[in-house]
Amino acid sequence: MLTTAPRGTRDILPDEVARWHYLEDVIRAHCRLFGYGEIRLPLFEHTELFQRGVGETTDIVEKEMYTFTDRGGRSLTLRPEATASTVRAYLEHNLPAGPQPAKFYYLGPMFRYDRPQAGRYRQFSQFGVEAIGSADPTLDAEVILLALDFYAKLGLKDLTVELNSIGCPVCRTEYRQALVGYLRAHEKELCTSCLDRLERNPLRVLDCKEEGCRTVTQGAPGLAEYLCPDCREHFRLVQECLKSVGARYVLNPALVRGLDYYTKTVFEITWAGLGAQTALCGGGRYDGLVEECGGPPTPGVGFAMGLERLLLALEQAGIELPGKEAPEVFVAAVTPEENPAAFNLVTKLRRAGLAAEKDYLQRSLRAQLKQANRQGARETVIVGGEEAARGNVSLRNMVTGTQEEVPVRELVAVLKGRLGK
Ligand code: ATP
Ligand code: MG
Repeated sequence: MLTTAPRGTRDILPDEVARWHYLEDVIRAHCRLFGYGEIRLPLFEHTELFQRGVGETTDIVEKEMYTFTDRGGRSLTLRPEATASTVRAYLEHNLPAGPQPAKFYYLGPMFRYDRPQAGRYRQFSQFGVEAIGSADPTLDAEVILLALDFYAKLGLKDLTVELNSIGCPVCRTEYRQALVGYLRAHEKELCTSCLDRLERNPLRVLDCKEEGCRTVTQGAPGLAEYLCPDCREHFRLVQECLKSVGARYVLNPALVRGLDYYTKTVFEITWAGLGAQTALCGGGRYDGLVEECGGPPTPGVGFAMGLERLLLALEQAGIELPGKEAPEVFVAAVTPEENPAAFNLVTKLRRAGLAAEKDYLQRSLRAQLKQANRQGARETVIVGGEEAARGNVSLRNMVTGTQEEVPVRELVAVLKGRLGK
């Protein structure tokens, strides 16, 4: 147990971290283009925030939260998602008084007691955006496009955007009646959770993953026919905007998403190559959430995407991301006597801004050169021998294998020239 990470968690070692850095760099540059600023939120919040902000009848709150009591007796929960926290921060810092909409992005770990498998973990990372304070349909289109252009930038193709509108409390009241009527007629085929949801939140039934419930919901009435004029027009405009920039989507009337606070636009972006876990990104509009969290009625829209799943998709699509960065220079010592001199030189090079590495196992010179090669160093400086007596070192180009003698005081300049720095 001491040598195994908890189920559903994983280490990311330096070789793999380079790919994460790359993704994070692309995310930051991309969000800058769209005017979203980074928000850094706590990894845990008061449990009540998620109960209210995600919803009591959701899978997340019913089955997936990591909730604990701290030493002060408070109930806290490791964040399963970050929309509720973003709204909490928006209210806590009085941002409704500032320019609207406030546009945020976040990046970091989320925690859910999910069943671990490929693309599904108990600690996983999400990149998400939230735009709070505007009901404008161009904002719905903007967040969808932000996600799509991001995938395009990474070179990932053949994504599917599934789109639906789940209306507002006005149109949902009427729809709810129709849905409950339909579900009642199929009660025997529903799972026990759904029987309970039927009373508390029948829309949730549409999101159930159980085979029996899925069969039932396929025949259920769709919300589209029940949309009020306002929601209908909003949905039309979102689609018009998407079409105008060449973003393709398919309408999926069964898409309701797992969270309680969504209104109007909901969407999911999938990539078929992922097998079982095809969902890369999910989001939508949540015009009821800010009020639910104790603020003034304020509309909002956003999405969250899983980064582990994205990395899996990139790998399966054969898109290579940068690996661990190699040292630029390796400093080798002719004999262990020169080890301190090598230390001194490696420090000088690092202070001059060169990524320099040395040997720490007092290996033979041959073994050190092999090591330099394995690490991918482009140049190796060899300290010691007759050259040292002349105040010089040997400089070996690891690609061509050519070697020349260079005065120590000129070494930094020569290296920078060779490395194009
Ligand atoms: P799913 O139906 O796959 O459980 P979800 O509806 O619970 O997804 P969201 O809450 O919409 O997921 O989260 C947005 C994205 O975060 C998902 O599309 C997915 O890429 C990622 N994600 C969600 N749960 C996990 C998990 N346990 N492990 C890895 N990634 C996840
Ligand atoms: Mg889930």
